Amino acid sequence: MQLYSTKHQSPDVSLEEAIFRGLPPDNGLYMPTSIPTLPQTFWDNVENLSLQEIAFEIAYALIGEDVPADAVKALIDKAIDFTAPLVEVEEDTYCLELFHGPSMAFKDFGARFMAALMSYFLQKSEKQIHILVATSGDTGGAVAQGFYQTPNIDVTILYPSGKVSDIQEKQLTTLGANVRALEVAGTFDDCQALVKQAFLDKELSGQFSLASANSINIARLIPQAFYYVNAYAQLKKKGLAKELVISVPSGNFGNLSAGIIAWRMGMPVKQFIAATNVNKVVPEYLKSGIYEPISPSLSTISNAMDVGNPSNFPRMQALFGNDLAQMQKMLTGYFYSDTETRSAMRLVYERTGYVICPHTAVAYLGLKDYTKTLEESVTGVFLSTAHYAKFLDVVEEVIGEQPIPERLSALLDKEKQATQISTDYEAFKQNLIEAFSSSNADVE
Ligand SMILES: *Cc1c(COP(=O)(O)O)cnc(C)c1O
Repeated sequence: MQLYSTKHQSPDVSLEEAIFRGLPPDNGLYMPTSIPTLPQTFWDNVENLSLQEIAFEIAYALIGEDVPADAVKALIDKAIDFTAPLVEVEEDTYCLELFHGPSMAFKDFGARFMAALMSYFLQKSEKQIHILVATSGDTGGAVAQGFYQTPNIDVTILYPSGKVSDIQEKQLTTLGANVRALEVAGTFDDCQALVKQAFLDKELSGQFSLASANSINIARLIPQAFYYVNAYAQLKKKGLAKELVISVPSGNFGNLSAGIIAWRMGMPVKQFIAATNVNKVVPEYLKSGIYEPISPSLSTISNAMDVGNPSNFPRMQALFGNDLAQMQKMLTGYFYSDTETRSAMRLVYERTGYVICPHTAVAYLGLKDYTKTLEESVTGVFLSTAHYAKFLDVVEEVIGEQPIPERLSALLDKEKQATQISTDYEAFKQNLIEAFSSSNADVE
């Protein structure tokens, strides 16, 4: 796989270089120079394949030049060791449950695949890689779980003190081994600023190999295409006859970008719905053609989507040949207030008994509003990006007490291990140097 920068001011790179660099030097985003279409025989037979078999076909078509087939298979078996079931919630309306991985959010797909791929490339070298990541909640848990006990890689996660949920905090702070949590007396933006400064620090990068694990890394995007095709396969198996509409609850738009990649690889889709909370930059853009970031982003109950300037937006543009009219043909945007989101959670629960998290509710609303505008009936899929129990305070406030899965409740009894730090860069840097020096020493 060859990758170019969406800003076209940096040279093309290999997959290995793109995943360890994260961002091209011109600050664009890496995108594959070509996206292969999967052969008709694959689509004809897709309903007989498992999620892992589908994942292999997609991954091999994309990265087969860089990683041999048996290694692709091994890394998929390791990374994608859970399911992504499709649940019929109402007639012609399906929820794609993406929360059956270890952190119970869809980010497990990206984080685990990225960890396995980095680990594959690192086997050849003796190098120790230090992942630095700032989280406002779900990214940290998925990255912590994804990289836990991965050889040659250690992870430092920065999170804002008091601003993540109890469960999210426990997911970051109870693993230990190669995963370290820094609890920052500040906001998510402060965490991100510290990480950014560390990446720009020549003294640090001269001494240590730093890498990022945020959603702009191409290794996180590729595995997200798997579950779209798997959803299509499950519907085809049920005898899907109507056209398919897919609604994606969006923040940085990595998830939706991966859906568009699946479509570009040949998956039949009538329309994608870009569903957001009041951070409505993309729905507004789809309507007016004017892209206006919201700064600072607005706080909502679907807080994993509180993004005022979606980092994957240039990728979406590139996937439509930077042509707004082409994008508008395939994508419709809707945005919702917290009041509307709460009502949707309540409505779905009262009608069907099914409990959804606030992000999933935004996707549900987008799907319903779009299908209302159609004359014909379609098959609708809305993506559920997290288990409701990760957002228990909102769920309990809206629909009352609900059971917590064993995997999450067990976490609450574990002891938190985090180092408290201030927003002072020099102190943070000293902390990193000490930690990195000892993990490098471990390897030798
Ligand atoms: C990260 C996240 C999103 C947003 O996904 P993007 O790929 O950034 O658009 C939506 N819901 C949940 C629960 C998330 O954790």
